[in-house]
Amino acid sequence: MKQNMRHTAIIGSGIVGLAHAWAAARQGDRVTVIERSDKARGASVRNFGMFWPIGQTLEYYPIALRSGELWTEFTQAMGITQRPCGSACIVDRDDEAAVLEEFAQLAPDLGVACELWTRAQAESRCPGVRTGIAKAALFSPAECNVDPRESLAALPIYLQEKYGVRFRWDTTVTHVETDKLRIASGESFSFDQIIICSGHDFQTLFPNVFKQAPIKVCKLQMLRTVPQPQGWSLGPMLASGLTLRHYDSFSICPSHAGMKQRIAQETPELDHYGIHVMASQDKNGGLVLGDSHEYDSDIEIFDKAEIDRLMLRELHRLYDFPDWTIAERWHGIYAKCTQGPIFRAEPLTRVHIATGTGGSGMTLSFGLAESFIQSQLSPI
Ligand SMILES: Cc1cc2nc3c(=O)[nH]c(=O)nc-3n(C[C@H](O)[C@H](O)[C@H](O)COP(=O)(O)OP(=O)(O)OC[C@H]3O[C@@H](n4cnc5c(N)ncnc54)[C@H](O)[C@@H]3O)c2cc1C
Repeated sequence: MKQNMRHTAIIGSGIVGLAHAWAAARQGDRVTVIERSDKARGASVRNFGMFWPIGQTLEYYPIALRSGELWTEFTQAMGITQRPCGSACIVDRDDEAAVLEEFAQLAPDLGVACELWTRAQAESRCPGVRTGIAKAALFSPAECNVDPRESLAALPIYLQEKYGVRFRWDTTVTHVETDKLRIASGESFSFDQIIICSGHDFQTLFPNVFKQAPIKVCKLQMLRTVPQPQGWSLGPMLASGLTLRHYDSFSICPSHAGMKQRIAQETPELDHYGIHVMASQDKNGGLVLGDSHEYDSDIEIFDKAEIDRLMLRELHRLYDFPDWTIAERWHGIYAKCTQGPIFRAEPLTRVHIATGTGGSGMTLSFGLAESFIQSQLSPI
């Protein structure tokens, strides 16, 4: 090991922490990741595992594509699941179909690859779509599906084996200064720089920074079915017309505002809980279904049966899966920056905060971390 290597500490082993660890290690840093739990247990293992460039604003579409290259590099090296399945947004209303048509027309000039499908195409390519329901569909080939639990378990091994990244599990960082951090046992360790990727924990480190920050906390409820029978495959990951109001990329379409208004008037209960419906398939064949969005003070400890009922109502309307038996229910909480894809701050010299990736952490983290490490952290 070179004597003059910069020693970087990463706090948090969610996807944001691991992405920064990877980027710093690739640049030649000696890296130590410190994680409070025995393994990643936060938002990064509770998500759909959707790598979802089509939902990103145009500015960040290239960052998403770069993240995709890095996902492929990692999954191929570790021999773990990455389904290059693409995504299909299935819509059943005229105004939603208009948004898809408008987006498909704009897409070539925007550099976004996608294809408008008829009902017949949607039904033949997506076996889970209910017969006769689709008005249109938008297929995007860029999306792929990873299993978050498998990936977040394999990434530390990859970083350890390939780059010598060290991991300290079951270790909570309680205090950070320039060049130094303290853990709950009272021990202190020195580093050249510290990157705090602590997800939605705004209380432990630099709470005052978060009080002022353009950032909120969001709770999402999720469901998983039992494995589908006889190797049944979902095909592309599925989104719905409701999804179009959730991702900023579609707001460039002239029909978007009217569509949102119509949904708000017709089904205020869906807006109330921020519900839109998506489906991905895990490596065992189970369908991961969701989701809802409750923010800040609306967040309660207990999950709401009403939210599950509404999500399943909408999912049943559009899809006809072979086995709807629900095997697992859970919620995840993420931090969301309201002014961009990630919240960054430098509360002390060479101490950086990186969090707030909202619903796009699996899609953007690798690319965002790489550009940050390359552009902002000059070697000491
Ligand atoms: C239900 C759900 C579905 C989603 N679906 C998708 C999707 O399909 N595609 C997509 O791109 N994104 C998705 N997301 C978003 C994505 O999961 C998040 O953006 C991302 O996981 C955030 O990663 P993180 O590393 O910031 O947070 P986390 O994964 O929560 O990790 C933070 C880590 O920091 C640790 N930590 C905190 N404080 C300390 C401390 N003081 N000392 C030591 N360790 C500490 C925690 O223990 C935790 O492990 C989804 C999110 C949820 C919740």
